[in-house]
Amino acid sequence: MTLTEIRAVLAARGLRPLKQLGQNFLHDRNLAAWLAEQALAGAEPGAGVVEIGPGLGALTSQLLERGARVIALEKDRGLCIFLRERFAAELADGRLDLRHGDALELLPQLRAPVICGNLPYYISTPLLMESLRLDARRLFFVVQKEVGQRLASAPGGKIYGGLSVLVQAACTVELVRTLPGSVFFPPPEVASVAVLLQRREQPLVAAEDRARFAAFVQRGFSQRRKKLSNLLPVQDGRRAEHLSPEEWVELWRGTLAGSCSGGL
Ligand code: SAM
Repeated sequence: MTLTEIRAVLAARGLRPLKQLGQNFLHDRNLAAWLAEQALAGAEPGAGVVEIGPGLGALTSQLLERGARVIALEKDRGLCIFLRERFAAELADGRLDLRHGDALELLPQLRAPVICGNLPYYISTPLLMESLRLDARRLFFVVQKEVGQRLASAPGGKIYGGLSVLVQAACTVELVRTLPGSVFFPPPEVASVAVLLQRREQPLVAAEDRARFAAFVQRGFSQRRKKLSNLLPVQDGRRAEHLSPEEWVELWRGTLAGSCSGGL
């Protein structure tokens, strides 16, 4: 949709972009097409895709045009009403399944090889973490630049944190492209980036251990100035940000071995 069309649709329905729902609508059709292509790259024809926050359907329409079967999760009731009209044919023939509600609550019931979305920034990190649990092969999101950088960051820096470790333990991370604010209405206050997460062939942590590993890592990062030996049952004088994801897993496994002899 063009900027003029977006303004017209919103005005006709008495809607306005809601800041509290992180609504910044994409009005660059070429970019929407590119995002859909990236999300679907390598996917089977007719692949199942979960889209978080379809908004007015900028990305949804491009995913559908490329033959995907889309499950779209949208919290805003007014937008859902619009989407049901815009995509009546696709809803009727089952190519689109639109669910009204909070994606954080809806995601755990879903399975799909691809998850994508131009994420609402106020909740992008919890949505990322919830998406990771779904075992999708490919996750392609637009997020704030700062979040993207945290996801991709290497050990040793200030922005390397628990999120970096947990995401990199499950996926490879690639910052694919920066998006200028001018492609959204209204333009967000912060720059955006398209980030691609691809599930590792061999994740560093098994699915059933993820929650315990996450709790361990988060505790390690809870006081970044302290040595790990002061925060966790380990004999390691380093600080949390100096360990790679592989080293975090090794450290955690060590505590499990210790637990057999009364350690953790
Ligand atoms: N995909 C559209 C686009 O690119 O133009 C809209 C993106 S906008 C940044 C984020 C969308 O997520 C909005 O439509 C907003 O209503 C929706 N949203 C916000 N919080 C949500 C939540 N917890 N669950 C599902 N959708 C949510």
